[in-house]
Amino acid sequence: GTRFPRPARTRVMTVANQKGGVGKTTTTVNIAAALAQSGLQVLVIDLDPQGNASTALGIDHHSEVRSVYDVLVEDVPVADVVAPCPTVPGLTCVPATIDLAGAEIELVSLVAREQRLARALATYLEQTPVDYVLIDCPPSLGLLTINAFVAASEVFIPIQCEYYALEGLSQLLKNIELVRKHLNPALHVSTILLTMYDGRTRLSSQVADEVRAHFPKEVLPTSIPRSVRVSEAPSFQETVMTYDPLSSGALAYLEAASHIAARGAAQASTQEESS
Ligand code: ADP
Ligand code: MG
Repeated sequence: GTRFPRPARTRVMTVANQKGGVGKTTTTVNIAAALAQSGLQVLVIDLDPQGNASTALGIDHHSEVRSVYDVLVEDVPVADVVAPCPTVPGLTCVPATIDLAGAEIELVSLVAREQRLARALATYLEQTPVDYVLIDCPPSLGLLTINAFVAASEVFIPIQCEYYALEGLSQLLKNIELVRKHLNPALHVSTILLTMYDGRTRLSSQVADEVRAHFPKEVLPTSIPRSVRVSEAPSFQETVMTYDPLSSGALAYLEAASHIAARGAAQASTQEESS
């Protein structure tokens, strides 16, 4: 396949939207697979107790497996819990198990409760070359998502082309602003992806137009179509990128990933010019 440009330094992206079912997990695993298939080293951190990203990547996450819970609550190094994705070389995953559901409460009483993922990840990245880290968030704005916001510099928001697409977005942006102000000055919304786009409906194109009007720079030019192949892939413990690489969904995710990689390379060269 084609090679995507390598970013100058690791890009850490938190995939967030406190609405459920908008395509966070699907976007995380398929963008991650597309970047890895294009020659980059990619780490997915599953931060949702449901463990859907782990499932889709074919990573064991039954309750005995050491997971992101152990990293957050027990100070276990990321290197001890990371697992390779069996279907995509270059792609690794920190799985989530169901114990993570309790972490939201357990974290409250721990020291540096908002920084635990950031610190663990920084230590890991000192030893391991990774081009992209994608963090899949649960559908809430609790301490798990805050840990993801503190660990990342970029927020990646998938938006479903449906009624009320923008509802709740102002709450999300407000929380990002709070984290930026108090915990992580580098945090910003870099990327928005329209998901489950249905070209036959006026609603999809109206939502797409509205989102583009609000966020002209952030919205990727590619939208992800609604496609049965995309929704089938996880039941085979695969991403659509290997399950059906020529399907419309896989091709759209590959194109979206190429835009993300191109933006990363463009940002790096602007930074070099200005320094
Ligand atoms: P979230 O992580 O935001 O809760 P998911 O990624 O789990 O959302 O997606 C919600 C549901 O929609 C899942 O059943 C998924 O398979 C399905 N889905 C996501 N993207 C598409 C798509 N492009 N076409 C068809 N189904 C999709
Ligand atoms: Mg999810």
